[in-house]
Amino acid sequence: MNDICGIDVYGSWGFAPKDIRGVPIRRALPCANAHRAFSPRAKNHSKIEVDTGYEKGNNNAGKRPATVIGIPRVLNMYENFPFWKTLFEQCGLGVVLSPESTMPLYQSGTGSVMSDNICFPAKLAHGHILALANMEVDRIFYPIVPKEEKESADTCNSYNCPVVSGYPEVIRSAINPDENLGIPFDKPVMNFGNKKTLEKQCWQYVSQFGVEKNCFGNAFKNAFAAKQDFLRKLIEPQRDILDKAIKNNELIFIVAGRPYHADPLIHQKAGQILSDLGVHALTDDVFRQTESKDFKHLNLVSQWSYPNRVVQAALAVAKLPQCVQMIQINSFGCGPDSFFMEETGEILKAAGKNHTVLRIDEIASPGSVRLRLRSLIESLRYENNIEKNLFQSVGDKH
Ligand code: SF4
Repeated sequence: MNDICGIDVYGSWGFAPKDIRGVPIRRALPCANAHRAFSPRAKNHSKIEVDTGYEKGNNNAGKRPATVIGIPRVLNMYENFPFWKTLFEQCGLGVVLSPESTMPLYQSGTGSVMSDNICFPAKLAHGHILALANMEVDRIFYPIVPKEEKESADTCNSYNCPVVSGYPEVIRSAINPDENLGIPFDKPVMNFGNKKTLEKQCWQYVSQFGVEKNCFGNAFKNAFAAKQDFLRKLIEPQRDILDKAIKNNELIFIVAGRPYHADPLIHQKAGQILSDLGVHALTDDVFRQTESKDFKHLNLVSQWSYPNRVVQAALAVAKLPQCVQMIQINSFGCGPDSFFMEETGEILKAAGKNHTVLRIDEIASPGSVRLRLRSLIESLRYENNIEKNLFQSVGDKH
């Protein structure tokens, strides 16, 4: 797992940050977003390795940068981490990403969670902020991002859900890292919906560290390129698997959710379980960068960036053969899903497809998820393979 992205952000500085138990972390952390696609075709039935293309080490090799910025591995950081990492490192700053989510990490932050009803992905943020405090960072960077990049001209807008965009404010009042941890907590507003505005906002932030304008200009350009490159590497291998599976009439699931559902503690290893059960599991990313003209016919306002992708996936799955099915991951307490789920259900039902919702909360054992997925696969095979002789099992032709 740690080898996936090879981001060696610590070793070259000669110091070892500690995890929340005080144990020194000597190894590079994998980048966010590394858990997205699973296929029985991949080696050992494991996830497809998504290499973000980062070079090992960083431009500060050999000495600790004067300023090391800690970034929590939460919510939309699963989308934007490649951008921030590239921008900061190319501006001469160090970057440390909080560790992968674990139950102890989550539990370390629960004392400061202010609402029991908030979704699990948001609750997890508290533990990640506390973990960063033990990782010898000089500042914590957790920006307020109201909008992501708009990916489809057919959608109305690309807002983040209020929880995603507003959670840095919650952290400031619930934990107050400046006062209680003695670490400056930066939560500047950053708008990915407008590149010019974003550039100004980024400059405003990094200029406080004495970064030169020229250096920033290049870093910003490269950060955007890194984000695009990462997306391409996320989409292309998945498209390849999708095409081959359709050609061979193999059962394939599009597991649709949010970027942060890539966190294994949130998705409860649903992708790995599906792969172990002998079917392909891809994410809704596979349909990104494809235009859809169907949004305008739906009973919703397509203004939310991540939920729009789930609807886009349902629209695409509806047009594909029966061997392509969709599972929607839902975090208990999710506001946008309460109405988006109904719409995706209608879309899939109209195409004669199953609408399976995996509602996942802070459970510690994935047994019930496994049972649910196994029943789903068996009933689909029964309906389509035995009665109508439609599906091949993965591997029948290999
Ligand atoms: S979209 Fe749903 S799961 Fe995600 S942060 Fe918002 S409320 Fe939580």
